[in-house]
Amino acid sequence: MFEFLLPPQQIRIVDILYSGPRTSVYLGICEDEREVALKFTDPHAVLVEAGAYDSLVAIQGSVLPKLYGVLHGKDWRGDKMSCLVLERFGEQLECGFLDLRKLEKAKILNKLAEAHRAGLHHLDFAERNVLVKGGNYRIIDLGHAKPHNPPCQWTYDFLEHVECDDVNIMDPSVRCSVLKSWADEMEFWDHGKLLLCRTILVPKSDKLPPQAIINCLNTAIGIDVKNHYVFKDKRQIAIRYFEYIQKQLQNGRSLEQLKKDREWIAYLVHKQWHEERKETFRPIPSLDFSSRASRSDESDASL
Ligand SMILES: [Zn+2]
Repeated sequence: MFEFLLPPQQIRIVDILYSGPRTSVYLGICEDEREVALKFTDPHAVLVEAGAYDSLVAIQGSVLPKLYGVLHGKDWRGDKMSCLVLERFGEQLECGFLDLRKLEKAKILNKLAEAHRAGLHHLDFAERNVLVKGGNYRIIDLGHAKPHNPPCQWTYDFLEHVECDDVNIMDPSVRCSVLKSWADEMEFWDHGKLLLCRTILVPKSDKLPPQAIINCLNTAIGIDVKNHYVFKDKRQIAIRYFEYIQKQLQNGRSLEQLKKDREWIAYLVHKQWHEERKETFRPIPSLDFSSRASRSDESDASL
């Protein structure tokens, strides 16, 4: 049914790339040392997915991995088994879309847009279905794919808009609600705002780190056991916390170091905030660093 694009040969299985309840993907090595991904799932699903790949030949090798063909056989019980033989491409995306830099978001969204224009409505687009290799991306798992009906109207190029904070939703280049909502979900446009600690929206500022860094360093705000913080208080403390983080970054502290120290920094920011208000600060016990603060060898005990 499908043309097989590799000559007859033995493929050595050398590793497991993915193992799930219904699907396993093995790494195979061909006789010419080419790596392939062998995706085993139930025979009907293999055919459905192969059909989707077949209708999208134009974007195989650029947006999707290349499909070399489908193998059918029998397992040790004599039951039918099938697998897709796919180009091996990179690794599964390990971080969340939100943790990516904007340039990487743009590359992934452009791939998704290309897939849409080629007629693919993916339906299971997620981090686990994106492969990355050296800053290049492929979309996988067409098991739930449907035709994009009517054809996609999207022409907006995300890579050309990496510097843009906003988009005009009336622009004719952004006429696909699915792509628009994925771009929103990935926070491609920040609309001139930053989201601190997942709940506090503030205007963008040079004094605050970019959103991708903020997302790695969110921490608990409002950590005094007795104080009733109103929203304005939390906003003020969160801004101070991230302004301090930004200063530290500018002074050359690494993100890893700041990640380790974020509760300590939050403690110091809260302590100062309460002191300015002439209030006693009683942090919740798990975030109480008063013994560390009183140690004289801590060079950063004050902000
Ligand atoms: Zn579309």
